[in-house]
Amino acid sequence: MNNNLLPLIDKLTETHSLSLAEYECLITERNDEAAATLAERAVRIRREIYGNSVYIRGLIEVSNICQNNCYYCGIRASNSACERYRLTPDEILSCCEEGYELGFRTFVMQGGENAYFSDSLLCDLLREIKSRYLDCAVTLSLGERSRESYEKLYAAGADRYLLRHETANAEHYAKLHPAELTHENRMRCLRDLREIGYQVGCGFMVGSPYQTNAMLAEDLKFVETFKPDMCGIGPFIPHKDTPFRDHPAGSVELTCYLLSILRLIHPPLLLPSTTALGTLREDGREMGILSGANVVMPNLSPTSVRRKYLLYNNKLSDGSESAQCKANLAARMRAIGYEIVCARGDIKK
Ligand code: SAH
Repeated sequence: MNNNLLPLIDKLTETHSLSLAEYECLITERNDEAAATLAERAVRIRREIYGNSVYIRGLIEVSNICQNNCYYCGIRASNSACERYRLTPDEILSCCEEGYELGFRTFVMQGGENAYFSDSLLCDLLREIKSRYLDCAVTLSLGERSRESYEKLYAAGADRYLLRHETANAEHYAKLHPAELTHENRMRCLRDLREIGYQVGCGFMVGSPYQTNAMLAEDLKFVETFKPDMCGIGPFIPHKDTPFRDHPAGSVELTCYLLSILRLIHPPLLLPSTTALGTLREDGREMGILSGANVVMPNLSPTSVRRKYLLYNNKLSDGSESAQCKANLAARMRAIGYEIVCARGDIKK
């Protein structure tokens, strides 16, 4: 192979670590051959740990009511064009029931940040879900909360928590969020979640406004040192009713390249091939799996609210992301040599 990046790729494969400058070089100097080599190695190492299994998570978008004003996000508080909704605990339980029958053994409750989802409401709901479905894991993705709150939710049965760090660079963080949302608190949350005992997921957008390759290198270094159980990455996609409406979307190609690198940094990582990838390209999620991802998160939210949970424009919400079309997803995965499995899908350590 005529590839000047091969020594770096070899080093990454062997040591699961590079310096910041090396990560940046790997990104900046990338070419098709490097991408192919990284993907081949990522797929090989993933296969050694997880075989050809792809884990599925049933995503329940519990509410788009949010008090925060993240500049990139379509459900930000100041977006008056957003039609708001929230699911009741009974509606959420119905989603779980339907999901369980379809074979889902992880439910992810994601939503905007709002006092309605109080500790007591969530704890009651968690206890109910966990007592009905003994073989299921519950993941929460409900943003920043106090340590005390995270402790209560864990005690009530939550197993995992997804909280993307969004960017490891504090100055960049301040360009993506208003002043009341700090990088410091985001990191505090991630540390608390880890200490409490959750399986923790971090993650970032690829191609978010003002992002540089040096910043992406910092994101990779953060994953290398924090060693999360999960890491969600997807391309930034502009939403027309946000301050970032005029910024270009991130690329599928770079997202896939980074998925391969992440797999090599932390081989057992649970790495979703995200909806945002599937939104930018019809076969985006297959590309993610073929780059080293091993998780997909189809939507279990009621169809009536799906089009309202619009984090970005054109968000995929046709049959291909719906749980009801799980058979379709299974066929698509089979076509590229993978099997969707009915299991909690915990990280293999
Ligand atoms: N309030 C929760 C859930 C946020 S939505 C929390 O803070 O964790 C989940 C993720 O969607 C975010 O972490 C963000 O990385 C991603 N997201 C939001 N807007 C986006 C956009 N315009 N393009 C791509 N991803 C976006």
